[in-house]
Amino acid sequence: MTNGRLFVLSGPSGVGKSTVVQEVMRRHPNLRFSVSVTTREKRPNEVDGENYYFVTREQFQQMLDRGELLEHAEYVGNCYGTPEGPIQQQLEQGFDILLDVEPCGAMQVRSNREDAVLIFMAAPSFAEIERRLRGRGDTPDDKIAGRLERARWEYAQASQYDYIVINDHVQHAANEIQAIMEAEKCRAQLRLDYLKEDN
Ligand code: ADP
Ligand code: 5GP
Repeated sequence: MTNGRLFVLSGPSGVGKSTVVQEVMRRHPNLRFSVSVTTREKRPNEVDGENYYFVTREQFQQMLDRGELLEHAEYVGNCYGTPEGPIQQQLEQGFDILLDVEPCGAMQVRSNREDAVLIFMAAPSFAEIERRLRGRGDTPDDKIAGRLERARWEYAQASQYDYIVINDHVQHAANEIQAIMEAEKCRAQLRLDYLKEDN
């Protein structure tokens, strides 16, 4: 069995990552979402262990000290990290993995695993990010400016990614991610074994 592929998705808060990821997951039974640990507060619609593992700063630090995180970063005052154990296990079982991490984390993943595929999600316009962020209704007004500031910085990192997906419509963005995943599976280096005569 061939190992799965690791896909990393970044994009500003409110651009629609979770919404599109849900659609992509629905289409791909072989895809697993990596559940991150975070010290931020749980939002009302979130489920512990499904959206995130919600932990204290002490618990986060312990995981970091034990070397359990593939990458980690601070984002608008909270810590986020990707547990490495489940990823390694699932890749070996042949599952593809999707990570939703901000750019500092994405670059750490790239330096640890050079075959990771980095995808950046943008909105059709910058103003649309603020509209969606406000429309979601769970980010207090005094936190919006900080997230938009961060969004500007994230946009400046996008050229370091392998692909940029525009989330104009959820189905369309999911199609683009699906196309990337299909194309990455056709890379010549991954298919040379099929060409051997004794195969
Ligand atoms: P993120 O995970 O990037 O922070 P969400 O998936 O929570 O973003 O989406 C933020 C808001 O934008 C949600 O209210 C969601 O329903 C909405 N949204 C997501 N994608 C689109 C889209 N293509 N068009 C319009 N609204 C969208
Ligand atoms: P939110 O608080 O809106 O769920 O996420 C805030 C930001 O943290 C998003 O940009 C998201 O991609 C990022 N994020 C979520 N999990 C992780 C993680 O494990 N590591 C890193 N580096 N960023 C993460």
